[in-house]
Amino acid sequence: MLEVTEIFSSLQGEGPFAGRPAVFVRLAGCVPPLCEWCDTPQALNGGKPMAAEDIAGAVAQQPEQLVVITGGEPFRQWDAGLEQLVRTLLASGRKVQYETSGKAGIPANHGGFVVCSPKPIHAPKLAPALVSRVDAFKFVVDADICPVLSFVDTHAIDPAKVWLMPLGALRQEQMHRMAAIWDLCVRHGFNFSPRLHILTFNDQKGV
Ligand code: SF4
Repeated sequence: MLEVTEIFSSLQGEGPFAGRPAVFVRLAGCVPPLCEWCDTPQALNGGKPMAAEDIAGAVAQQPEQLVVITGGEPFRQWDAGLEQLVRTLLASGRKVQYETSGKAGIPANHGGFVVCSPKPIHAPKLAPALVSRVDAFKFVVDADICPVLSFVDTHAIDPAKVWLMPLGALRQEQMHRMAAIWDLCVRHGFNFSPRLHILTFNDQKGV
């Protein structure tokens, strides 16, 4: 059984698939140490127990082709049913995108597109096998991107696999930082990602 916080349809708000319609499956629970500024505290505890086939059934009711598996930290539930869920989704023709911190590792045969926001960014060097399983690295930043540059250099990451996004839980904070981050992306060959859910809905939850 998997622990599920919520299943809902929306648009992907950020990263390589920003703007794409998607079904979100938010799995509950994370891996300590937890981040002080966690933006999904509702996913850190509890969760409704659901069998993989029931989750796949709920997803099947939605029209979007892209299924975003997020959390919490979703890969902590790989052996508890996530692998079975993903196999079912892929067999039905859906595409799978993961949102992960990398804290629970990344399985070799995940079958989807992995977007990783490493937490904490100053953690000991990640295993090369884990880095190689990430399709896109995503970082929320202000004007100081030294930690990102250090991370990218340490792990020899192709800049084309890096997305920078402006820090800030409010629309005005995003707007304030976007021009500077745009310039940083141009300078370093990174991708820029807006955070569409914040620009559109400000601090409204559940979108
Ligand atoms: S890794 Fe993500 S879900 Fe876990 S505590 Fe940090 S921000 Fe929250």
